[in-house]
Amino acid sequence: MEYFEVGTKKDILYWSKRLYQKGMSPATSGNISVRTDKGILISSSGVCLNDMDEDDIVLIDFDGNLLEGNKKPSSEKFLHVQIYDLRDDINAIIHSHCPYTTAFACSDKMMDEPIMPEFVFYFDKIPKAPYGLPASMQLAIDTAECFKTSDVVLMQNHGVVCAANTLQQGFYSLESLRAYAETYFATQVLGGYKKLTKKQINEIRKLKLQ
Ligand code: 13P
Ligand code: ZN
Repeated sequence: MEYFEVGTKKDILYWSKRLYQKGMSPATSGNISVRTDKGILISSSGVCLNDMDEDDIVLIDFDGNLLEGNKKPSSEKFLHVQIYDLRDDINAIIHSHCPYTTAFACSDKMMDEPIMPEFVFYFDKIPKAPYGLPASMQLAIDTAECFKTSDVVLMQNHGVVCAANTLQQGFYSLESLRAYAETYFATQVLGGYKKLTKKQINEIRKLKLQ
């Protein structure tokens, strides 16, 4: 397995391709960024994450101004800026329209059913930010607000955002959330899911303290 130095353009290209190839960012949806010493490296607007080159990644400052590059930064740049502003511990952000996960965003259902131990352990409940016009400052502010209590947030009728220390961690987080979503849907065909009991949930939560 070939990995690249964390927080570089190559690192962004590597995880972008994996996101697309796993079906987690169809067509030109989604965007991706990392925090660096000089500012935020972010995908440009309207590119397919699978087909980006280094030139498609630009550097912006923490007000969203372009510092380096010839392309237009992602239209969701303020979403990324707001989350980095709020959370010092976050160095990587992925926004995706992963279809199964986005199905929860496009409904009134929450992602909070305790049907798998890893879901209870890692997520428990995914907050959902209210709908906002894509690329708007209001959407950025309302979505960032939910990062006070979670590293992953659904965006009503839009998609999902994940914040992590590295892109690798963010990718795994979105991939396991997608696995939960797919499993959830598959249980519907099988007659419904069976929830873990309160006792089982408490035992799983206690594992976090070990
Ligand atoms: P950009 O291509 O401008 O990053 O927008 C994609 C997207 O997902 C908008 O919400
Ligand atoms: Zn989007």
